[in-house]
Amino acid sequence: MIKKIIAAAGLYLWFGISAGAWAEKPQVVILATGGTIAGAGESAVGARYAAAKLPIDKLLSAVPQIHQLAQVSGEQVAQIASQAMTSEIWLKLARRVDKQLRRKEVAGVVITHGTDTLEETAYFLQLVIGSDKPVVLVGSMRPPTSLSADGNINLYNAVAVAASEAARGRGVMVVMNDEIHAAHSVTKSHTTALNTFVSRGKGPLGHVEYGSINFYQPPQPQRLSPFDIRKLESLPVVDIVYGYANASPRPVEALVVAGSQGIVHAGVGNGNLFPAVEQALIEARRKQVVIVRSARVGSGHVLRNAEVDDDKHDFVVADDLSPQKARILLMLALTQSQQSSQIQEWFYRL
Ligand code: GLU
Repeated sequence: MIKKIIAAAGLYLWFGISAGAWAEKPQVVILATGGTIAGAGESAVGARYAAAKLPIDKLLSAVPQIHQLAQVSGEQVAQIASQAMTSEIWLKLARRVDKQLRRKEVAGVVITHGTDTLEETAYFLQLVIGSDKPVVLVGSMRPPTSLSADGNINLYNAVAVAASEAARGRGVMVVMNDEIHAAHSVTKSHTTALNTFVSRGKGPLGHVEYGSINFYQPPQPQRLSPFDIRKLESLPVVDIVYGYANASPRPVEALVVAGSQGIVHAGVGNGNLFPAVEQALIEARRKQVVIVRSARVGSGHVLRNAEVDDDKHDFVVADDLSPQKARILLMLALTQSQQSSQIQEWFYRL
């Protein structure tokens, strides 16, 4: 009898402590979209593999340690390699993120994603999510079947950041290779290296090693987004034209005929334009297409009215946004305004 009472008391104590520990842990929701982190290869030492094979429950069960960090639950939003990302998936994902962050008990959201367009999804969410709770995108450069796969430790670190009070008020972040980057500045810089993600000019926001987080600066005041996607089912058509020596004006001319509402030009140097392309862009602007001058060089700001007369041609400059991120801001901007001056103000501010 006494033995039974002691056993029951022990059991009660164990459950009580475990339940208490569970209740104290922050809630983190993982939204899965595919990518190499969910991929499968033919061999542990071969480059050939297919992205987006493993479902969310397999990703979670591969890293049981994340349950020591947070109460984690998962949801599959898409299952694609990220080169197949679409505006429709962005809109769906943003709504899911918003819905989860509105739940009082949720501390943060992690999104598993292919690395090819991860920075674009991060910046899209940065522009449309109006919460100060952490949103963390994570991927891997090697599939789970590879030797020294990086997905599990990246996911562990991403959950640690999403669960952390210190990560609030820092916008949408990318956690890869022990570093924490801001959505605005992060970019993939190498085709295959583990340290491919960099924030040129600004550097990372901080680092995270085995779940231990260190931010280099205090959080910034939240920049409120002017864009409301709640009623949107698609985004305006915006395309990118690449600049080079002796460039052809034909891509610009063809896009105008095809109905692009905006064109981002990835120019040489300080966003400069081959003369025949400049003429085609001036013509496009006369036909109400909004033109954004960005640079193909990978870092620095595009300066207004330096070698191109932006005021005269009614062009917008991308400031320090890469062409692929300038495209995202222009798509969202065109849902609210066609005016270059208003759009320029957003490019300087957001
Ligand atoms: N192309 C794949 C993707 O973006 C693989 C890149 C990756 O996830 O690392 O989904």
